[in-house]
Amino acid sequence: MGLLDRRFEGLESSYLFSEIASRARRFAKAHPEREIISLGVGDLALPLAPSVCEALVLASREQGEPGGFKGYGPYEGRAFLREALASDYARSGAELSSEEIFINDGAKNALFSLLSLFEPGITVLIPDPVYPAYLDANILAGNRAGFIEGGPENGYLPSPPESAAASLVYLCSPGNPTGAVYDADGLKAWVSWALERDAVIIFDSAYRSFIRECGLPKSIYEIEGAKECAIEIGSFSKSAGFTGLRCGWAVFPMALEREGVSLNKLWRQRIAVSENGAPYVVQRAALASLEEPGASECARAADFYLNSARRIAAALKSAGISCTGGLNSPYVWLECPAGLSSWELFDMLLERAGVVCTPGAGFGRRGEGRCRLSAFAKAEDCERALGRMLEVLNRL
Ligand code: PLP
Repeated sequence: MGLLDRRFEGLESSYLFSEIASRARRFAKAHPEREIISLGVGDLALPLAPSVCEALVLASREQGEPGGFKGYGPYEGRAFLREALASDYARSGAELSSEEIFINDGAKNALFSLLSLFEPGITVLIPDPVYPAYLDANILAGNRAGFIEGGPENGYLPSPPESAAASLVYLCSPGNPTGAVYDADGLKAWVSWALERDAVIIFDSAYRSFIRECGLPKSIYEIEGAKECAIEIGSFSKSAGFTGLRCGWAVFPMALEREGVSLNKLWRQRIAVSENGAPYVVQRAALASLEEPGASECARAADFYLNSARRIAAALKSAGISCTGGLNSPYVWLECPAGLSSWELFDMLLERAGVVCTPGAGFGRRGEGRCRLSAFAKAEDCERALGRMLEVLNRL
């Protein structure tokens, strides 16, 4: 028996972004005269919305005023933010109480810690391609992962497999990296599947604020029966620029029980022993992103990225390159032309166009032969990158 957990050696996602950064750095060093534009990152380009900034300043000042100091808060998050989130859910047709919503310091951490509620060694189903943290979290938890494959054949929206048995299944909509969005029927099929098998869905709605099309669900709780089978993970990172501030939430509905135990109660216990909540000032800023005028300011920022994403998708299509996403999502997921592998296209775009994308191979086996372009960039950068990419792609 050794000392260290060797499961860390099985992790892959750290490789992807460090390899992208090191290839881009090498190229920049060898060609200092060339401008490199990154459409590779999931971080945002615009500054914080004015109302969010103002809330941060006011809440910070409050800390130094007599009677204004806020120390440890409730583990589950401040009531004002949980209530505002419940109202936000209600606006899109999902009825939740604030007791079902738990504030945290971002979705990524929650995706790892929620696995502590389950017995190690369970079987989980993970979309392929998808955000790599799901697989990494399950590798570290000692779980067995099966994959539900996405491809052009199903629009990168895997349907429930008839035969597979699993305790947990991950769904991400709008998807990272594919930008594909489940419609209500697609989610209904998953909810029925989970209810029939007593499986639990982990629904990642980190990109919900980019859904503009009427009728597309922003939350799994817009689907009947979902409260009995789904945990939802949310984030202020992409909706309001909290990638650095750090704030997100997890929904554990009261109706979600397994083996006679309420998962809401279990999660409450879990965070009571392991967390001290998200910072008060950050929660005040998050509240400002949900209330007017902050909500409209944040929606305008999302519209700005969506506009760039639409332009990227339309330009690629006009050059004969198949892609998904770009609508209701800041990501465009393209099929590499001319039989190129995803790293080959990455190198070609870097060397010939000075543009950084994200190779699809980093998102799973089915990501090979595809690349992700992110619209989280300044509009002028996006426009220049697009022009230079099209020159390269049109010559293939
Ligand atoms: N879920 C998905 C699908 C993501 O793409 C990301 C970040 O890129 C996260 C969760 C993590 O979000 P957070 O910044 O709240 O940790």
